[in-house]
Amino acid sequence: MFIKRVENFICEHCGHSVIGNGFTNHCPKCLYSKHVDVFPGDRGADCGGMMPLIKMESLNNTYILTHKCVTCGYEKRNKMSPDDDFDVAIKIVKRV
Ligand SMILES: [Zn+2]
Ligand SMILES: [Zn+2]
Repeated sequence: MFIKRVENFICEHCGHSVIGNGFTNHCPKCLYSKHVDVFPGDRGADCGGMMPLIKMESLNNTYILTHKCVTCGYEKRNKMSPDDDFDVAIKIVKRV
C-alpha cells in the first residue's frame, strides 16, 4: 500500500518550509522526519513524534536513511531524496 500525497509542510525542527513531492516525509535541510505514517503516505500513525536521522547506508547507488522516533522508538527506513542535504546527513550520522 502506497498513497502518493503532495503536501507542503513546515519542518518542526528547523522551520524550513518543505515543498512536498508526494514522497518527501522528511526535511531536506536537517533530515528530521515525523512519525505520522504507518504505511508510507497514509498518515495513519497518531504518534506524531519527531524522528531524527540515526543511520545512513548505501545500497545500489542510492542511500537509505533510517529515522527513529524520539517518542516511541519506532524506526523507519527511507530512500534518500536528491533534495536532501548530503553534507548535513553525513554530519548527523557521524555524531550519533
Ligand atoms: Zn528541518
Ligand atoms: Zn512514534
